[in-house]
Amino acid sequence: NDIADGLLRGVEDAQAGLREALFDPVIRLGVTGLSRSGKTVFITSLVANLMERGRMPQLRAAADERITTAYLQPQPDDAVPRFAFEDHLTALTGPEPHWPESTRAISQLRLSLKVRRGNWVTGLGGPRTVHLDIVDYPGEWLLDLPLMEKSFRQWSDEVLAAARDPVRAEHAAPWLAALEEADPARKLDEPEAQRLAAAFTDYLGRMRAAGLSGFAPGRFLMPGDLAGSPALTFAPLPAGATPSGSLAKEFARRFEAYKRLVVKPFFRDHFARIDRQVVLVDALGAIHAGPPAVEDLRVAMTNILEAFRPGPNSWLSAILGKRVERILFAATKADHLHHSQHAALTAIMEALLADAKRRADFKGAQTQALAIAAIRATVEQELAHQGAKLPVVRGRLEDSGKEAALHPGDLPSDPSALLVPARKGAAEWLDEGYSVMRFAPPVLSRAPGEGPPHIRLDRAAEFLIGDRLL
Ligand code: GDP
Repeated sequence: NDIADGLLRGVEDAQAGLREALFDPVIRLGVTGLSRSGKTVFITSLVANLMERGRMPQLRAAADERITTAYLQPQPDDAVPRFAFEDHLTALTGPEPHWPESTRAISQLRLSLKVRRGNWVTGLGGPRTVHLDIVDYPGEWLLDLPLMEKSFRQWSDEVLAAARDPVRAEHAAPWLAALEEADPARKLDEPEAQRLAAAFTDYLGRMRAAGLSGFAPGRFLMPGDLAGSPALTFAPLPAGATPSGSLAKEFARRFEAYKRLVVKPFFRDHFARIDRQVVLVDALGAIHAGPPAVEDLRVAMTNILEAFRPGPNSWLSAILGKRVERILFAATKADHLHHSQHAALTAIMEALLADAKRRADFKGAQTQALAIAAIRATVEQELAHQGAKLPVVRGRLEDSGKEAALHPGDLPSDPSALLVPARKGAAEWLDEGYSVMRFAPPVLSRAPGEGPPHIRLDRAAEFLIGDRLL
């Protein structure tokens, strides 16, 4: 049955491929990043700015006025929820602007662009339509990929070892205490299973709150529509006897079910079809959280690159039809910094990317690192401070609604300082100032034809899709 399904899908894919070659080209743009990295805000602002194009000078097709119209269309995939673009745009640009609801699961949106081809002086070729299919999915789901190669035993051993690491031990204590009380060799008892899974999920949540990431299973924190299902009700266990009918036996079985029913379908049905990918990274948040969080970010970036270029013998390379051509790592929320610090942020992202590329032994796709703000919530200012001028950003605070001008602290000018794990004294970067910076979206007074204000969103668009609009 699987084989028949596969064959049928193959035929359908081939037909779709043919249609695309003969008719309108389609770009499938994946947008991912860990929770709160800014995916929802990015997609909403990108689509709004592609529809208006008044603030996209670095996107060549827009600057040359070769995009004549851009409009939303029903997406081709009937089984994937639609990205709630209109709701999110209303939240951001209504009379009382507020941040939209964040990504919880996969969603999709099709934006169609009518593009005048080539040089419009010679008028080569008529206008054509390029479909941009944007696929939004939680970055947590990508972190599941390494699970595919692991047994329940291997995975449990690794997670338990990591939980004893001094950086994590404090967060792991309640879960490990719950584990102490359990007897995995005893007959499965569902409330007990749920208690262990909940304690483990709580540990993952605590790590995320501390700025640490990089831990599978991704659906434990981002369950989508699977919350509460048996495939998500398991947890790592120490080595021991696994009699049939026991909790230990059942958890090992559920771990395999998770791989088969959750991880594999996501990679096969969605991930494998992406052409271009943007990975959003809350780099400022990680720098603020301290060196372990930055180290975690570096590891996560390495894992992500490996997912996009798996080794020739992995199961993933067998299902990857076409390979992703461009990957952008974008540090988001750059509007928290005065532009005098943007170069330092870009340099940090570039250093992290170079390091991840080296470790992943990455070849093939084009990559770029960029510092952006999908929505610019601040304006810049210089304040007199102890006889010098202090560059600050001013915005409306989310909690109080009051205006505030803040200096988040200074990024290190030498990015290599950040790459040394556990460097002492690192907490001096982005200190007090940064922790109070929770700006609301700006109240907009937009001219007709202008999308929401941003920083370098047009550069991001040029790298991701510019070549396909020529
Ligand atoms: P998601 O979980 O990846 O979908 O993240 P969201 O797009 O919902 O963004 C999470 C939060 O980050 C938002 O609620 C905002 O507080 C903040 N944020 C995202 N993008 C920006 C930005 O460009 N500028 C600023 N100042 N804040 C942003």
